[in-house]
Amino acid sequence: MQKSVLQDTVFHEREDSIITKGKQKKQLTCDTASVAGCVSQRACVYCGARVVLNPVTDAIHLVHGPIGCASYTWDIRGSLSSGSELYRNSFSTDLKEKDVIFGGEKKLARAIDELVAEYPTKVVFVYATCIVGVIGDDLEAVCKAASAKHQIEVIPVQSSGFAGNKAAGYRAACDALLRLIKPSQKKNKPKASTVNYLGDFNLAGEVWIIKDYLKQIGIELNVAFTGDSHYEALKNATTASLNIIQCAGSMIYLAQRMEELYAIPYMNISFLGLEDTAASLRRIVDSFGDPEMKLCLEELLVRETSKVKPTLDWYRERLQGKKAAIYVGGGFKAISLIKQFREIGIDVVMIGTQTGRQEEYQTINELVDEGTVILDDANPSELEKFMVEKGAHLLVGGVKERPLAYKLGIAFIDHNHDRKHPLSGFVGAVNLAKEVATTLCSPVWQYV
Ligand code: SF4
Repeated sequence: MQKSVLQDTVFHEREDSIITKGKQKKQLTCDTASVAGCVSQRACVYCGARVVLNPVTDAIHLVHGPIGCASYTWDIRGSLSSGSELYRNSFSTDLKEKDVIFGGEKKLARAIDELVAEYPTKVVFVYATCIVGVIGDDLEAVCKAASAKHQIEVIPVQSSGFAGNKAAGYRAACDALLRLIKPSQKKNKPKASTVNYLGDFNLAGEVWIIKDYLKQIGIELNVAFTGDSHYEALKNATTASLNIIQCAGSMIYLAQRMEELYAIPYMNISFLGLEDTAASLRRIVDSFGDPEMKLCLEELLVRETSKVKPTLDWYRERLQGKKAAIYVGGGFKAISLIKQFREIGIDVVMIGTQTGRQEEYQTINELVDEGTVILDDANPSELEKFMVEKGAHLLVGGVKERPLAYKLGIAFIDHNHDRKHPLSGFVGAVNLAKEVATTLCSPVWQYV
């Protein structure tokens, strides 16, 4: 029955990327190229790279391509800085037809000269876009020459938009970061009880919330990748004794490479929701094996939980029985959101990601109830179909999903990078519950 419904409305090529828990035993297909013609919700390679690198606050971010690609700016992401604001600019070489015919390398070299003169910095990231991949500009050579000329680091980011999917962009950004953090000849000495925090982009100051928790239990945050990071801090990344990863989809590759190259162990954590925040802090503390730290942590957990628990209980009473559909970028966030919605009495009836990995989908499958639709790399018509079929009251997604929900008269909350309030840690759990309740209980839905 389910199969025939899918065949009616889903492209045949997409069937392996969609399962309904309890109805199909097959393994979900993920991490593959999008099906041509499906207008996937996934972002391009360049966007993936930009997500990861843009929060480096004191860098020049130069987009080598047509002006349209540079519309990806700080204004649509909202990661905060405690220092330089240079990253808020989106510089572009503004390639035109003439450059496509004769090549854009000279224009790129001139743009770097001009920018470095105007905005003194120690690092420039140069992003390749679709057209650069097509015309074949040698980014590596231009960046190398500019680096020698200006005596700063000019790092090419090999992120031609069509050369894979968003996950390939994450990898391109991680490769650029690896070039940047490469230690100098004198070996950096590792510092005890310090962590690098990977995969948090300091949206609405989320890195600062986690930094404060860690500080209260005696752990120093060395550098975050890449929220509120800067050149000098990133250069010291190899001194940390542990890498913790929030967004595994974007940063697991970097963590693995840092373990191979610099013997820094890593662990996946999540600071979304009470359950995952407490469990993650405990795992970090356990890895240091310090009884005093353990004591501080347990005190912190009692303190923070008692502050937010009554509020969350209040929201749970009002939200009990509502149904949510989730479509987000990575698998780690999807997993945490299932648990977090459970904390406030909401069932997840549809869940999907742009770049989830097989092991993440397995965890999702274990967590959700029978009948929940799980889908990878969805397109708008699939999202609409399953939201309606499953009777979702709420869609959780990003800017591309928002109109789908509103067209169907369904509430929407933004869990992507353009939001202005933090959703991490204990304070974030309350913010999420409040936002969900505000939108779900709005009187507007009675007029749909
Ligand atoms: S890199 Fe390509 S797909 Fe990405 S924004 Fe630019 S033109 Fe579009």
